[in-house]
Amino acid sequence: MFDLEGDLLLDVVKYKKLFQITERLHSFLDVDVLLGELFIVLKEIYPNFSYQLLLSMDTYSHNDLPIIDLEYDGENIAAIQAFESGAVQFESTQTGHAVLYAPLKGKREIYGVLQVIAPLTKGFPIYDVEFMALLSSCAGGALENAQLYQLSLRTISDLQLINETSHQLNSNRPMAETFEFMSTQIKASFEANEVGFFLFSQKQTKAKILPGSTPYFFTRQARVYVNHIIEKLQKENEPLFIGDFTLPEKNHGTSFHSIMAVPVVVGERLRGFCMIMHHCPYFFTFESFTLLQSLVHHTSLALTNSMLREELKIMVTTDHLTKLHSRKFLDEKIQCSMKNDEEGTFILLDIDNFKEINDTYGHQIGDEVLIQVANLIRGNMREHDIGARWGGEELAIYLPKVPLDTGAAIACRLVKKVAKRSKPHITVSCGVSYWNKESKDSYQSLFKRADEALYTAKETGKNKVVIEGNHSRVNEALI
Ligand code: GH3
Ligand code: MG
Ligand code: MG
Repeated sequence: MFDLEGDLLLDVVKYKKLFQITERLHSFLDVDVLLGELFIVLKEIYPNFSYQLLLSMDTYSHNDLPIIDLEYDGENIAAIQAFESGAVQFESTQTGHAVLYAPLKGKREIYGVLQVIAPLTKGFPIYDVEFMALLSSCAGGALENAQLYQLSLRTISDLQLINETSHQLNSNRPMAETFEFMSTQIKASFEANEVGFFLFSQKQTKAKILPGSTPYFFTRQARVYVNHIIEKLQKENEPLFIGDFTLPEKNHGTSFHSIMAVPVVVGERLRGFCMIMHHCPYFFTFESFTLLQSLVHHTSLALTNSMLREELKIMVTTDHLTKLHSRKFLDEKIQCSMKNDEEGTFILLDIDNFKEINDTYGHQIGDEVLIQVANLIRGNMREHDIGARWGGEELAIYLPKVPLDTGAAIACRLVKKVAKRSKPHITVSCGVSYWNKESKDSYQSLFKRADEALYTAKETGKNKVVIEGNHSRVNEALI
């Protein structure tokens, strides 16, 4: 009678405790903290027992907690049975210990099994079994909540990432800026070391690296990784998830072991791909792989549009026949230079007696002559100089930050080269104008003065350079 009362009292205390524990465990929204708390509670109630958790999910880092993966191997029969049936299972050992497996049951599924080892020769008393079953169920429910909460947080941040990126892509910003933004987003969200965007050439044999990719991708060392991905994508056209990439011996070791790559496919055509890398093996989770895929999938149309826009811009700013810049592009560049630089020289060039060339050899040869002159211009320019088709058979060169005498010398050299190299033989005339910060010049006036100088060149015999009126001294010195 007394014993029974004592047991009842013990039960009341334990169940009261269980109620408190349930509340406590359910208040944790972080899985790791929750699991840590579960072990503390168990030790409080049954200090002589030892515990281990066998979890079926492996997405958390459990630090120093006694948690292992629930493996489907022959050695874990009782644990697997508890996991599959959802009922407590027992095991006895030769060392006089009793072992109990209580499933961590949530509403949706079972998350693992709690293993309890107790120094009990006759096994667990029934009320301890019930208590353990209730406790592990409560832990399962709390774990499910915390996991769902973390999942919803992740889903929200994934959606935010996709949403922000789509917005940015649809905002008509320059492509470089767009990829720069995407690169920063991906680097932060995936904790990637490197992020690269690539665009395939028309024949899909080569992939051009796009601006916004991290600097590593522009180095020679990156080639081996990129080539590997290109080869795989061309063969399989499927997203790639590589956990432990290893390079052959000759490459002096592997710097990046984790690689994910997602092709950009539009209209069933492989247009490009995005790849991200991390130094450590198995760094990216499968969830992040899914996220990268949906990110690329959601943005591929916008990405391709952005790429096509850029191509279109090049088409608009390039003259089809000569492949020199368009006049519009030249206008913009000169205006920009007149705002930011100290000085610049402008050369207007016109083919002499071009009508005759057309009349004699036909329009097609006329076109070829134009291309020859354009090529000579290109061959005589430096990186920042701009060669353009001014219109018809008139071409123009703008030399930012170049003083007049240098600009005039360049024009003279060009006139001589055309006379010497063109086939059929032609000559050209040039008008040169110049501005600097002190002269408070306008670009309309700069063009007009070059045009007037060109007119003088034509009037005074052609095949020559004439410099704008105010600089007759330089003019005479050169011609
Ligand atoms: P000048 O020495 O005074 O410049 O004489 P010109 O014959 O070159 O000048 P004109 O303005 O009388 O004729 C220009 C010719 O250039 C007429 C036009 O048919 C030709 N032309 C303009 N654009 C092109 C082109 O894209 N291809 C070809 N083949 N000819 C062109
Ligand atoms: Mg002309
Ligand atoms: Mg002409």
